[in-house]
Amino acid sequence: MASFTSKPPKIEIKYTQIFINNDWHKATNGKTFPVINPSTGEEICQVEEGTKNDIDKAVEAARKAFHINSPWRTLEPSARGKIMRKFADLLRRDIEYLAQLETLNNGKPVTNSKMDIMGAAACIDYYAGWADKFTGETLPTTSDMFLYTRHEPIGICGQIIPWNYPILMLATKLGPALACGNVVILKPSEETPLTALYCAALIKEAGFPPGVVNIVPGDGPNCGNAIVLHEHINKISFTGSVEVGKKVQEGAAKSNLKRVTLELGGKSPLIICEDADVNFAVYVAHEAIFHNAAQNCIAASRTFVHSKIYDEFIAKSVALAKKRIVGDPFDPATQQGPQINKSQFKRILNYIESGKKAGAKLECGGEKANDKGYFIKPTVFSNVKDDMEIAREEIFGPVMSVFKFDSYDEVIERANATNFGLVAGVLTKDLTRALKFVQELQAGSVWVNTYAAMKAQAPFGGFKQSGQGREFGKYGLEPYYEVKTVAIKLLSKM
Ligand code: NAD
Repeated sequence: MASFTSKPPKIEIKYTQIFINNDWHKATNGKTFPVINPSTGEEICQVEEGTKNDIDKAVEAARKAFHINSPWRTLEPSARGKIMRKFADLLRRDIEYLAQLETLNNGKPVTNSKMDIMGAAACIDYYAGWADKFTGETLPTTSDMFLYTRHEPIGICGQIIPWNYPILMLATKLGPALACGNVVILKPSEETPLTALYCAALIKEAGFPPGVVNIVPGDGPNCGNAIVLHEHINKISFTGSVEVGKKVQEGAAKSNLKRVTLELGGKSPLIICEDADVNFAVYVAHEAIFHNAAQNCIAASRTFVHSKIYDEFIAKSVALAKKRIVGDPFDPATQQGPQINKSQFKRILNYIESGKKAGAKLECGGEKANDKGYFIKPTVFSNVKDDMEIAREEIFGPVMSVFKFDSYDEVIERANATNFGLVAGVLTKDLTRALKFVQELQAGSVWVNTYAAMKAQAPFGGFKQSGQGREFGKYGLEPYYEVKTVAIKLLSKM
């Protein structure tokens, strides 16, 4: 049974200021903003509000850190990797505290916060290994010439992240950027700046020279936009909504044509074939949508089920959704915490109303789960049609929409009929059918008989409007270096 509490544990908030040049600063505009606990709707603390002047200060520090003779630029690449590994170790050392802080600020169950922190450390470790291994190549040419390529860091990287995986997203951004020898200005979401600021202290402790990593909390239109438009920022990596992603690309083009990587939204299909084991399918589909209160870019928000197993799937999925434990994220038994804030909470409830009005059948949930905080009951809709709003738009909330299909050609077409293309899942025992889906589905990752198989070494990113470029794996390094071609003509006389 769900338990709710209005009394979160007392957690010391150690850092609330802007981190520039390995030091803490007050906001230049003298303002702070409130950080809210989504489990209660109450304020946790005030954080310094970074704006354009603070971004200018961070850029100044980053430029010094990236100067050709700076400690960072002259560091042996393997030593760069060593500092990164130290940072990963510190994340693991402080996992208990960090997990509590993440849960307080984001609302995700503390068990999930710990998984995220382990994932963050693994990502930093993985990229630390690349620091002395990403190389250019020697190219074949005539004997009187030496022709080769160098991989060089781009310079100052602006990184803007959302609130759904605060620590994991920070690590995803920092890992490849630092491995390639860049310097960074990172803006966490204004909803969840607390763990990013704690990580800033760990970055200093790990031994990164001043100015290599700067963390500036603030909002999107002022702080984020100042990063996007800055003439001395050479690259921007953004994770968030499609709407803001388009603004980022526009701003980058309007300013200095900085390089852009975008990780955006999704409306991902999970296709359950008639030969899938129904109990297994119910479990996979449940986690694929409800994990992290469905605040997941990869959420399987369109579950396509073959007509032969549809009724059984619905009955079992509803039973499982009703059993999901929603409540106090500090309770180790809890599976689902609150949505991040009031506006997301209302938005999701509006989508549920829209589904009901459009004729989808509400099987369970569909309402708030507590009077305090932003909890929503796991919701299952059957009889969802492709043209309904809930079938087309990213809800970012615990709403499973189940669609019926009869033929495989039909379901491929329907699964692809979206502007998004982040990921897709297929459950089947038939290898030929699985490979057909793998070929035909328009998505950056296709998972067969599993879902959310994210690994530091596996490239991740979207087709279509789900993004541009890749994160993770070797491909994840590419957005963070320039390729320089060098041709040296050998003089004939020695
Ligand atoms: P959002 O786009 O509202 O905000 C993301 C970040 O951008 C925040 O830090 C915000 O302050 C900043 N921002 C807002 N306006 C800005 C502007 N004009 N200029 C510069 N920065 C600005 O997204 P969100 O609500 O925080 O996160 C949810 C979205 O993120 C969903 O669409 C989700 O699918 C997407 N997401 C994608 C991935 C992925 O890897 N593809 C991962 C997680 C989340």
